[in-house]
Amino acid sequence: MSQSSIESLKWLSDDQVRSFASEVQLPAFVYSEEAFRKQISSVLSFPVNDGYGFQARFAMKANPNASVLRIMLEMGVEIDAGSEYEVLRALRAGFRPSQIQLTAQQMALSFEKLFAMGVHFTACSLHQLEEFGKRSKERKDVGIRFNPGMGSGGCTKTDVGGAQSAFGIWHEKMDQVKEIVSKYGLNVKTVHTHIGSGSDPEVWKHVATMTLALAAQFPECDTVNLGGGYKVARMSDEVSTDLQKIGAPVKSLFEAFYKEHGRKLKLEIEPGSYYTVNSGVILAQVDDVIDTGDHGHKFIKLNVGMDSITRPSLYGAKHPIVIVSKEEGHKEETTTEYVVAGHCCESGDLFTQHPGGAIMPRRMRTAHIGDYAVISGAGAYCASMSTKNYNSFPEIGEYMLLPDGTLKMIRKPQTLEQILENEM
Ligand SMILES: *Cc1c(COP(=O)(O)O)cnc(C)c1O
Repeated sequence: MSQSSIESLKWLSDDQVRSFASEVQLPAFVYSEEAFRKQISSVLSFPVNDGYGFQARFAMKANPNASVLRIMLEMGVEIDAGSEYEVLRALRAGFRPSQIQLTAQQMALSFEKLFAMGVHFTACSLHQLEEFGKRSKERKDVGIRFNPGMGSGGCTKTDVGGAQSAFGIWHEKMDQVKEIVSKYGLNVKTVHTHIGSGSDPEVWKHVATMTLALAAQFPECDTVNLGGGYKVARMSDEVSTDLQKIGAPVKSLFEAFYKEHGRKLKLEIEPGSYYTVNSGVILAQVDDVIDTGDHGHKFIKLNVGMDSITRPSLYGAKHPIVIVSKEEGHKEETTTEYVVAGHCCESGDLFTQHPGGAIMPRRMRTAHIGDYAVISGAGAYCASMSTKNYNSFPEIGEYMLLPDGTLKMIRKPQTLEQILENEM
């Protein structure tokens, strides 16, 4: 099966690609400040009931660059951190401890220090809840992440709810949760669920219903956090989540909860992808074009690979790839079906593959060695998640396209010295 429609650029023109390519060291990440702001505004207009309260957080693992975090901070978005190191990074970017919530798979080593500062804690297992009870002296307010028993990921590797997922406390363990809560006199202020990528309003309604049922069990609970996972289309044949559609039924469920329990719950959501996916691209170059004979395939080899963008090799994620001619004013009219490979010596380093690894040729403008290749949908889980330094390729630079049309370097390309720095 091959991709039928040919992808196009979203917020860049061919001329801009050529001009940026002459300004920066390729390959490089290029983010658009305007694209970030537009997505943040969309999250901030999530439909909520007047007087109930709403807080948007950013799951910063999607893109933790300080320049990205500062845009979030300036627009009133707070942080969901997935490790203590992310907490420290958010603090350095300028967030106050009270603006940061830690929802982590691994218990923080510097636990006491972080919580004494005022960082919010979401217990993600019975063990974490027990540890919080034992070790947190002054603070008794805690959030609990539950696994509500269902998920909605794009594939098993992105599904973060249901019986196959290790995230959160299984919803049927309420008795054990309550035992720990009463043993240490904890106040469960926030009930949290995060079930993975989805765009179906019915699924969100169902999850909100289950989460509210959990919140009803804790009389002191004043906040419900529905996590992130709002799917954003990267490819032209994918569907993006409409937050207004997702939010409308959730809004009425909160109202019904108030009528029944007399509590106006504050809603929190914490997308990562939604703010960032289409706010970033990788500007790369065609390093080679080869073929495997009459019955084989045509291949493009890029000067970037899984060491900068791991998602395709990890779970067959699809990213639009647009070829831009290196010749000024030239737009390639012919198209060719290609398998696109990364530059790592690893057969899985392919940009055009099915989740299981089978190749999936894709039609795009005919490419010549030296042409530019723009990989879109690279603003989330790319710079932050990679098989970094494989083949000893240095980490590539990151740039922000400012509203005035200029590029600002926000992370330098790594040097060989930096790769070797800690080696003895
Ligand atoms: C990763 C994560 C998110 C964000 O997920 P997206 O799919 O990027 O929106 C939100 N909450 C938690 C707890 C996460 O781990």
